Amino acid sequence: MKNKTPLAVIGTVAIDEVETPFGKRDRAFGGSASYFSYAASFFTPVSLVAVVGEDFPSEFLKILQEKPIDLSHLKRTSGKTFFWRGKYTYDLNTAETLETQLNVLTEFSPELRFESPPEFLFLANIDPSLQAEVLDQVGRPKARFVACDTMNFWIEKKRPELLKVLARVDGIVINENEARQLAGESNLIRAAQKIHRWGPAKVILKKGEHGVLVFDEGRFFALPGFPLESVFDPTGAGDSFAGALMGYLAKTGDTSFENLKQAVAYGSIVASFTVEDFSLDRLRRLDLKQIEERLGLFRKLSSF
Ligand code: AMP
Repeated sequence: MKNKTPLAVIGTVAIDEVETPFGKRDRAFGGSASYFSYAASFFTPVSLVAVVGEDFPSEFLKILQEKPIDLSHLKRTSGKTFFWRGKYTYDLNTAETLETQLNVLTEFSPELRFESPPEFLFLANIDPSLQAEVLDQVGRPKARFVACDTMNFWIEKKRPELLKVLARVDGIVINENEARQLAGESNLIRAAQKIHRWGPAKVILKKGEHGVLVFDEGRFFALPGFPLESVFDPTGAGDSFAGALMGYLAKTGDTSFENLKQAVAYGSIVASFTVEDFSLDRLRRLDLKQIEERLGLFRKLSSF
């Protein structure tokens, strides 16, 4: 199969049940790879590697089809789609997981048929064994830049497999609390240094509404969060941050520290839109012009 996409992602495509202080949605379209690919597609075409079950609604598929997202590696199989139920209380930075049903994920074994493998690869939040399988199949040095994400669920259940993935990636984009848990260090700088020693040259720590910290082989960059008056549903902020960041890197083909700063700013801005509504709803009403406008405002707000 011909592949013209410079970027690919493996992750979850999910049905979520989400409750925030502002409302509840029973069957929301979610998943790490869904948010990632939708956000990345503002910058570059992206290939999505994932699995869904028979219950996966066709309306959700249509949402992905709105954008330049190659779905030829989105497998549909018998069984139920990955399901996540989460809740946010007053601290909107932390999701409480109430239920995780892996469903079709347990039997999933991706088979990649890229004629020309993507140069940029993101191993979004999913079982680290699947992250490793995809990395094996894309192979090095064909994948020029590989980054990953993870969360408490996998840190607790699949730590040895996760550490093996970390040893093979160039970057990690991870939530601050998960970085602390992974490294066993409460201080974020020490946690980042430890994770860096395990593999990734670039360690990018997401701090929710408090912004981002970037460590890149001894260099350091910090960006505040874009101040928002109305945060509605934080689900997917981290994945859309990573999607826009990787999308921008893949579009520019430049992984230098200076360009990474730009990519992180785009990631922050796209994530700031994601949280303004449930599911992918706000991203569906978003265009590059709105992204650039908010980025301009962000530049003014954070320069002195
Ligand atoms: P975040 O960007 O961190 O808010 O990620 C939210 C998305 O992660 C939700 O749409 C969930 O479907 C998905 N998710 C939740 N738990 C897991 C898990 N254990 N593995 C992969 N994806 C998950």
